[in-house]
Amino acid sequence: MTIRLHNTLTRRVEELTPLDPSNVRMYVCGPTVYDYAHIGNARAVLAFDILFRLLRHEFGADHVTYARNITDVDDKIIAAHQASGEPIGSITERTTKAFHEDIAALGALPPNVEPRATQHIGEMIALVETLLAKGHAYATEGHVLFDVTSMPDYGMLSRRNRDELIAGARVEIAPYKKDPADFVLWKPSTPDQPGWVSPWGRGRPGWHLECSAMSEKHLGATFDIHGGGIDLIFPHHENEIAQSACAHGHGTFAKIWMHNGFLSVEGEKMSKSLGNFITIRDALKQHHGETIRLAMLKTHYRQPLDWTAEGLKQAKSTLDRLYRVLLEIRPIQNAHAPLSVWAASDTTNIHPKFLEALDDDLNSPMALAVLNTIADGLFNDRGSDEGVIVAAAELLRSANLLGLLREDPEAWFKWQPAGAGGGLSDGDIDASIQARLDSRKAKNFAEADRIRKELADAGVILEDGPNGTTWRRG
Ligand code: AMP
Ligand code: ZN
Repeated sequence: MTIRLHNTLTRRVEELTPLDPSNVRMYVCGPTVYDYAHIGNARAVLAFDILFRLLRHEFGADHVTYARNITDVDDKIIAAHQASGEPIGSITERTTKAFHEDIAALGALPPNVEPRATQHIGEMIALVETLLAKGHAYATEGHVLFDVTSMPDYGMLSRRNRDELIAGARVEIAPYKKDPADFVLWKPSTPDQPGWVSPWGRGRPGWHLECSAMSEKHLGATFDIHGGGIDLIFPHHENEIAQSACAHGHGTFAKIWMHNGFLSVEGEKMSKSLGNFITIRDALKQHHGETIRLAMLKTHYRQPLDWTAEGLKQAKSTLDRLYRVLLEIRPIQNAHAPLSVWAASDTTNIHPKFLEALDDDLNSPMALAVLNTIADGLFNDRGSDEGVIVAAAELLRSANLLGLLREDPEAWFKWQPAGAGGGLSDGDIDASIQARLDSRKAKNFAEADRIRKELADAGVILEDGPNGTTWRRG
């Protein structure tokens, strides 16, 4: 199977031919840690989490290196510190930890390396020195700037002309710049700002420099895939290319550039001022992480995604249906538990059409359609036990590749949001079910019915089966 991916550099879908199939390398721009991550950030994380999972499946988990950085030195972090007085180290530690918790709840796998900018200052200074030595940068007034006129094909990724480059960069016309489009590699820090000793005085790196230095350190001067949100094409990725290609030679750096589309909320740009800003943390108070994940995956990663209450509702009902089928076939599965298909590792039994969809530039909507088709088959025609087991294994293993259907089906239906408040606890429900059973034994059917209704009014549905009563939250 070959994986085909859209390359922003060529604006085409291309076959992925790894430089070294025994070590496929991917770098994705991670968060700037000064606040809780929002669901737009989650989209970028999940888009590349799917790719990471697919690469691991195709090349083997030990043959993929995924690096996603943490930007822990940035003017936004300094501004957050000035606003609250919280020490910078505390802000970055706290928000990094929150980021890890939030995306883990969405089922994102940790990357193999998670380099932090503040731990790579030496590499950044060395990169600036190389650019200076090669005539691609100049030092002035404590700053070091990249000289865009030194690179004839500057702008190759965003394909902007010079005027657009200048306007798009929103570059201040600083007196120390030779050209308005020149960008900062290194800048001076005042005593109250974080800073490191450098040949150009005490200062700190520019954001673009951080990713060029960290990707080189962990993946080498040339690697396979570089990703991020579409907003990063210019100036961030354009400038990363300028730095790395000028330092290491043209033709180096990432081969395939991938960008996820933006996320809007109920048709509007997400922003704090519009009051529609949703952190991952808040979304998780109302929705299960898998629901959020599936709501993202229903849209192809390159398309714009509109985040709506309706979309979440649909995602939840799709998952309910998939978990329901798993619950229904459970007796068959239990009867055949020793069959090897259930003992197989996570990545066997993937449905070929499902894989075909993902291999085609991560067509997750198509892959989800395949899952639904397998579920349809299981609902409509059970056929032989053998057939059910194979189909169920395909459903489960394929969904697992997307990071879905990871819950126990019974636990799925019992789950309630942490923010639900006032709901019955699992223990309350079990106690009521026992009381109902006791009433029935005592032939007090009116009381048994009353208890069933009381639970139904609280959103708890009882199902009496041969092995006793089970319940789920409706
Ligand atoms: P930031 O912390 O703003 O640098 O963003 C981290 C990652 O999230 C980058 O890859 C951004 O492109 C991505 N991102 C930020 N906002 C959105 C959004 N609304 N929709 C999709 N991706 C986003
Ligand atoms: Zn970056």
